[in-house]
Amino acid sequence: MTAGIRRSLDYAVVFVAYAATARIGLSFDALAGIATTVWPPTGIALAALVLRGPQLWPAVSLAAFVVNVMTGIPVWGAAIIAAGNTLEAVVGAGLLRRFSFDPRLGRVRDVLLLVGCAALGSTLISATFGVAAAALANLPRAESYPVFWAVWWVGDAMGNVLIAPLICVWASAPLRVSRRPLRWLECGLLVAALTVVSAMVFRQPTNIRAIELVRGTYALAPLLIWAALRFEQRGTTAALLLVSVIAVSATASEGSYFAARTPHERLLMTDCYMAVTTISMLMLAAALAERRAAIGVRDEFISIASHELKTPLTALKLRLAAAVRTQRRPAPRDVDAEEKLGRSLRAAGTTTDRLVSLVDDLLDASRLTAGRLALHLESVPLIDLVRDVVGRLREQAQEAGSPIGVEIPEPIVGRWDRSRVEQIVTNLLSNAIKYGAGRPIQLTAHAANDRMRLDVKDAGVGISRADQSRIFQAFERVTSANRVGGLGLGLYIGRQIAVAHGGSLSVDSKPEHGSTFTLELPLEAPTSGAGISAATSRPPVS
Ligand code: ADP
Repeated sequence: MTAGIRRSLDYAVVFVAYAATARIGLSFDALAGIATTVWPPTGIALAALVLRGPQLWPAVSLAAFVVNVMTGIPVWGAAIIAAGNTLEAVVGAGLLRRFSFDPRLGRVRDVLLLVGCAALGSTLISATFGVAAAALANLPRAESYPVFWAVWWVGDAMGNVLIAPLICVWASAPLRVSRRPLRWLECGLLVAALTVVSAMVFRQPTNIRAIELVRGTYALAPLLIWAALRFEQRGTTAALLLVSVIAVSATASEGSYFAARTPHERLLMTDCYMAVTTISMLMLAAALAERRAAIGVRDEFISIASHELKTPLTALKLRLAAAVRTQRRPAPRDVDAEEKLGRSLRAAGTTTDRLVSLVDDLLDASRLTAGRLALHLESVPLIDLVRDVVGRLREQAQEAGSPIGVEIPEPIVGRWDRSRVEQIVTNLLSNAIKYGAGRPIQLTAHAANDRMRLDVKDAGVGISRADQSRIFQAFERVTSANRVGGLGLGLYIGRQIAVAHGGSLSVDSKPEHGSTFTLELPLEAPTSGAGISAATSRPPVS
C-alpha cells in the first residue's frame, strides 16, 4: 500500500469513527443538543494523533464540524466547537509526545501522563470553546453554564481515559492470538462474569432479595483485577469498555444503580465511577507490566553479567596457565621464553583491567542507586583529558579500522571531576569503536556561554528512535548489540555523571547512518552534584 493511500485511509477511518461515535454520544440526553457526558470521539482523536501523527488533525476538524452542524447550531458555532475539539487533540497529543509517552501504557508514568496532560488538561480547551459557542449562539440550556461546562469536560475526559487507552494499547503492537484452549476458556469465563455482575449492579433491581442486599460496584473490582493480572493492558482496557457500555446504557433506566434526578446526572455519576476505576486498573496493569519488565531485565542482566565476567576470567586463566608453563621450564630460560612470559603477563594485566572496569561499572551503578557517587572537582584542560583517552584507545580503534579524529580548536578548561569526565569520554569513544562499523570517528569540542559541548560522531549502525531514550537506563542494551560485549551501564553512568556536573548527555542517531553523542558540561560544575549525592570538592590543580 502506498503512503498516499495509507494516509487517505487514516483520514477516512478517523472521520468515520469520530462522526459515528459522536452521534452515539449525542443520543445521551445532550444538553442544548451539543454537550454530553458520553463523548468517545475525544479519545479517538487523541489516539489517532498519538499513533499516526498530528497531521491527521483535518480529519478531526472536519468530523467535529459536520457532527455539530447536524445538531442545528449555526455554522460559525459549529466551527468554534470544531476548533476546540481539534486544539484539544493536537495539544493533548503534543504534550504526550513531548514527554515521551509510550502508547503501550506499560509504565505507571504513561498512565499518569495520559490522565494529567490529556484527560484533565487538554480537555479544558474543548469544554471552554463549547461553552463559548453555546453562549454566543444563545442556545436554550436546561442548566447553568458551569454545569454545562462540567458536562462537556467530563465527557471529553472520559473519552481520553477510556477510549484512548483502548485504541492505543490494541493498536500499538501486533496481536498474538493464543493457541491454548485453557486461555480461551479463562477469557470466556471472565467476559461472562463481567457481563453478569455488571448487569446485576447497574441494571434494574431484581426481585431476588439476596442479590439486592449485596448489589454494589465493589463486586466488579476482583473481576477487573483478574483482567489486569491475567490479560494485561489489552484485557484490562477491553474489560473496562465492557463494564462501561453496560453501566452507561443502564443509566437510561429509572432503577439504575446511580440514583439521580436526571439522566445526565446519572451519567455524570457513572462517569465518575468509571473514571476512578479505569485509572486505578490502568495503573495496576502498568505496575504489573513494569514488574514483569524489571524481572526480564534482571534475568537478562544476570545472564549478560555472568557471560561478560566469564569471558575475561577464562582468558585470564589461559594466560596465567601459559605464564606458569613458561616459568616451569628448566633454567636457564632462553630469550624467547622470557619474551613469551612477558607477553602472557602483559595480556593477563589487560584482561584484569577489563575485569576491574566491569566490576567498577557495577559498583558505580549500585552507588548511583544508593545516591553515593561523589565528585572531586578540579581544574581540567579538556585537550589533555581527550589526548589521554584517545591515546589509550588508539590501538583498539586501529584494530577496528576506525581512526579517531580530534578537533578542539580552542583551549577549554573546566572545573570537573577529571576521572569521571574521562570515564564518559572513554565510554563514548569505545562505544563508537564497538558500534562504528569500522568507519572513522570524529570527536569535536567547543565552548560557548560558559558551557562546553563535546560531540562523538560515528558512522556506524545507529540507534532507532525507540531505543534512544532506553539506552540511557541501567542495563539497557539494543538487542542487536548482544553480539558485542557490554553490560548496558556505560551510558546510564555517563548521563548521571553529566547531570551531577549540571550538564547533560544525549544522542542524535539514525539507524544505519551512525550516531552523535553529545556531552554538555558547564565550565564551572556546581559544588554539590545535581543528580547524585553531595560531592566533595578538592582544591583545584593547575
Ligand atoms: P554497553 O555498550 O556496555 O552495552 P552502554 O550503556 O555504553 O552499554 O550502551 C548501551 C547500548 O547503547 C549499547 O548496548 C548499544 O546497543 C547502544 N549504543 C551505545 N553507543 C552506540 C553507538 N555509538 N552506536 C550504536 N549503538 C550504540
